[in-house]
Amino acid sequence: MKNIQFIDLDAQRRLLGDKIDHAVMNVINSGAYILGPAVTELEKQLCDFTGAKHTITCASGTDSLFMVLLAKNVGVGDAVFVPTFTFAATAEVVALAGATPIFVDVLPSNFNMDPESLRAAVDMVVSEGKLTPKGIIPVDLFGQPADYDAIQEIADAHGLWVMADAAQSCGATVNGRHTTAICDAGSTSFFPAKPLGCYGDGGAIFTNDDDLANRLLSIRVHGKGKDKYDNVRLGINGRLDTVQAAVLIEKLALFRDELTARQRIADQYNTALADVATVPQLDANKTSSWAQYTLLVDDRDAIVEGLKAKGVPTAIYYPIPLHQQTAYKHFPTTPQGCPVSESLAEKVLSLPMHPYLDQETQDYIIAQVRDVIAQTRKQAA
Ligand SMILES: *Cc1c(COP(=O)(O)O)cnc(C)c1O
Repeated sequence: MKNIQFIDLDAQRRLLGDKIDHAVMNVINSGAYILGPAVTELEKQLCDFTGAKHTITCASGTDSLFMVLLAKNVGVGDAVFVPTFTFAATAEVVALAGATPIFVDVLPSNFNMDPESLRAAVDMVVSEGKLTPKGIIPVDLFGQPADYDAIQEIADAHGLWVMADAAQSCGATVNGRHTTAICDAGSTSFFPAKPLGCYGDGGAIFTNDDDLANRLLSIRVHGKGKDKYDNVRLGINGRLDTVQAAVLIEKLALFRDELTARQRIADQYNTALADVATVPQLDANKTSSWAQYTLLVDDRDAIVEGLKAKGVPTAIYYPIPLHQQTAYKHFPTTPQGCPVSESLAEKVLSLPMHPYLDQETQDYIIAQVRDVIAQTRKQAA
């Protein structure tokens, strides 16, 4: 059996061929390493792709979230609502800004922020009167957009901004629109393993708000005014490398076809595995970028071991919800707690998912998953 990759970046690299070598060498020979022409070109192409009015590329997905918090003047005494079932960066940036992340539970159906749990959390903060509610950061987990209609309604009722953490969902839509173009701001990551990844770290912020876009351009270069030696606010060094922008332009050219391939692969997994595990549900008004294909299973440890023995790599996103993590457990949660997230953390299992997963390999993975689940059930009975 050949070596099965969880995410196969080599297959994409072979397809990109010489084009990407030339794009990278062009930047190296041009000498324009910082904010060179490829950065501007990529930002223009990402506006066309997402429908957002402004794209501000930056150094990572984490920076993209943090820069928006700086631009929104989030700080001590402010509350920002985040799902607990996510990667640490979503809550980390809130705490780094000096504000308090409030953990909200997720829905069992799509693993995303539960609007009712959010509503209860906002009401709790308002009635306690100690913190000022400022914003909401829904995460599009595994590539599927959160429930923005319901979340926006709660935001509007309390005057809160909404920033989409679309680190995993570049290319995904809700009601035909990219999530990064429907909120006050959207943030994404170009970490190599994300749906649209570069060959290092990178990220971008999307917004339709001219004033926010201007602040972000300043924050990206140490809070510059007329130049970087005129400092009008606090900022960071948040720039995307020109080399990475050149890589991303080549990869963006393949991205629509890759999204189609990811959907086909997810459909095939769903059809083949629905009778042996809980398969992911895609809401009718949404498309997903399928950053991960994630099942819910009982007896997960035995299944992971069984698949490993058959050469099928798997991953667990996420083994511990943030409200139970050492660095975050002192922050508040929604009044009912986060039981759905706690239960998901024990059952989630992600299978190999990337656009270059060929039929033969996927058929092998499916056969092994069915077989291993049948074995563990027999042993349990
Ligand atoms: C990957 C990720 C981030 C952080 O992106 P980096 O580019 O690694 O900094 C933030 N939020 C979520 C949900 C992510 O999956």
